[in-house]
Order: sequence, then structure tokens, then C-alpha cells
Amino acid sequence: MYPPRVTLYEVGPRDGLQNEAAQLPVDDKVRLIEKLAAAGLSRIEIGSFVRPDWIPQLADTDKLASRLPPGPRYAALVPNRTGLDRAIAAGLREVAVFMSSSETHNQKNTNKSIAESLGHFAQIVPAAKKQGRFVRAYLSTVWGCPYEGKVDPMRALEISRELKKIGCDELSLGDTIGVGNPLQTRTILELFLKHLDPGYLALHLHDTNGTALANCLVGLEMGITIFDTSIGGMGGCPYAPGAAGNLATEDLASMLDDMEIATGVDLEKLFEAGELAQRLIGHKLTGRRLQAALGRRHPGEARAEAST
Ligand code: MG
Repeated sequence: MYPPRVTLYEVGPRDGLQNEAAQLPVDDKVRLIEKLAAAGLSRIEIGSFVRPDWIPQLADTDKLASRLPPGPRYAALVPNRTGLDRAIAAGLREVAVFMSSSETHNQKNTNKSIAESLGHFAQIVPAAKKQGRFVRAYLSTVWGCPYEGKVDPMRALEISRELKKIGCDELSLGDTIGVGNPLQTRTILELFLKHLDPGYLALHLHDTNGTALANCLVGLEMGITIFDTSIGGMGGCPYAPGAAGNLATEDLASMLDDMEIATGVDLEKLFEAGELAQRLIGHKLTGRRLQAALGRRHPGEARAEAST
């Protein structure tokens, strides 16, 4: 019923840091990525080759790319041809393009209409493939849009099939605002899996409403084996300050470990990475298993509260 093995695609150093106020120096990012690699994560997204003034937290991706520990496959976002050229020069084997399934979010996030984004990718994806790069595509707002509300899954599917036609190797479907429920996840995946292979799809779920693991479980039951997570849940939710955003890597890794589904991840080392992430970011992260692990490791710091 469940796949025997699952890949966790770590987005903390990119998606997580991009939404944190703290700007980490390259040395700290390298330390964090070393911990993530040591924990056994096999795919890590390290940053973005967008214009440095757009996302100052990620302005140093070129420098960071030259200092990565061996082992994992590293990826970065590329918004355009310049970004792709920078990613190739930096030696990254994987690049990611991104767009939304709702017009307003796509316009605000990328300054393009959906048709313009697809036209643009039709240029840069083949160029990346020609250079031997693995190309991941992100499709955001599939479960809901912060501006338009509900998104028609048929529309999201049309865009997804177009992205496959253009040459993308993998498609990560995003619940960008974390509003998805398990029934909706089943409905979306039932539709998508009529037209696309489960191995082509990844799920990028957010935990804003505490439903990310439930949605993951539906994905697992339907044959999805790639899930995007962020160490400690780093990044929060840009549309609901203070709320959880990306699903925490330790939360999914722990649940899968409990279910005896292999991830290749060493949980204790993952908690060490989470502890470092929290220290570097400077505030408590939302990951439940991380907080439980920290409570066990530093019992003196936990408040004495009545347990029910
Ligand atoms: Mg995210």
C-alpha cells in the first residue's frame, strides 16, 4: 500500500531562508548544508539565481555553490537565461523553474502571465537539458491561491502537461498557502495520475493548518515518492506571519521512519541540523519533532508544565 522508499527534497536553504528575516553569511549556510548532507539528505536546494536585489537572503548562491560538501544532488532556482547560465557556471547538476497555477499569484511572483511563463520556459528548459541538467519545475498554488482562492485542478493539470512537453524532468506541486485537505489532495492526484506518472511528481506541502502530514499520507497511498520539506519548518508562511509554512523535514522523516518507509536519513543527525538551523535563524522553529527532540536534549530549558 505504501512505497518502500521515499526521497525527501530539502528546501530549507532556499525556500526556508528566503522567507526568514535573518540573512545568513555564506559560512553559516555551508555549515547548515554540511549538517543536512551528513544527515543523509540526498537532494538539497541551496538557493536561487534571481537578481540579488530581489531576494537579498539568496544573493550569494554562486559563492555557496563552490563550497558544497560532496554527496547530495544540489539544485537552485533559475528564473531566466541569465540565472541558468549562472547555475551552469556554478556547476549545479539540477536547476528548477517556477510558476503558479493561478494568474494573479504568477503575475505577482514572476511578473509574467501563465502563458508568458510557459513561453519563457520553452526557451530555457531545452537549453538546460542540452547542458545535461536535470530540470525540476515548481507549480505553485495548486490547492489554493492567496488572491484568487480555489484553483481549478484541470487548469493546473493543463499547465503541468505543458511543462512536461517542454522537457521538465520532475514537477513539484505546491500547496503554497497550506490550505489543502486530504480529500482535496486525493481529488487532485486522481486527476493528475490519469495523465502523469507518479514518479514524475513531487509534493510541496505547507503545514499552515496542520494538514501537511495528512496530505503526504494521501500522496504516499497514491504512489508519490518525492516530498519537499524544510529543516525545522524553516521559512514560515509569507501569507500568515507567525504560522507554519513548509512541512518540517524531521516531521515527515520521523513519520516515515515510524512507518518503516526508508528515507536514508539519520534522524538524530537531522535533529542536529534542525538545532543548528534554529540557532542560526534566531527564533523557535515550528517543527514538532524538532521541538520534542530539543526538549529531550535540553530538559533543563523546558518549562515545568502540567501534563494531560
Ligand atoms: Mg514552500
